[in-house]
Amino acid sequence: MKRSACFPGSFDPFTKGHEDIVRKGLPLFDEIVIAVGVNSTKSYLFDSDKRLNHIASIFKDEPKIRVIAFNSLTVDLCKQEGCTHILRGLRDVKDFNYEVPIALMNRSLSEIETVFLIPDTSLFPINATIIREIYKNGGKIDKYVTNFDKLVN
Ligand code: ADP
Repeated sequence: MKRSACFPGSFDPFTKGHEDIVRKGLPLFDEIVIAVGVNSTKSYLFDSDKRLNHIASIFKDEPKIRVIAFNSLTVDLCKQEGCTHILRGLRDVKDFNYEVPIALMNRSLSEIETVFLIPDTSLFPINATIIREIYKNGGKIDKYVTNFDKLVN
């Protein structure tokens, strides 16, 4: 059976931390579907087309990756896309405390297991909320975001 993981998030923007989780997941799965949240009631700093095109540019040479938009329950998305697992990253106990109940609920709803990967320690402090604040206040974020030019042009 094909092992396909869904990696869901807002990815506003997709950082080197997110990228590291995907790259570390690649040897474990036949396919990774990066699912970009596009909830019309949420406001994003970078619009959905920018976020989708930016992520696609980072993985343009990686045939095992698909990038899609989503606006539904993660377990429904997994069924729709044929994903057998959910992929998430863990940086610290805060992530752990937030992620574990969600993973347990997803297992209860669908029997889909969540796989957690830990990024390189240098990427622990990278957090999309902080990156947005730096950018909104005129700071440089290209150190934390691969292909930053594709996000803003
Ligand atoms: P969003 O849902 O706003 O995109 P997150 O930043 O929570 O937000 O990202 C989605 C997933 O990526 C989560 O599993 C989160 O733990 C993980 N993640 C975010 N930043 C990093 C990072 N620097 N290193 C590893 N994983 C990360």
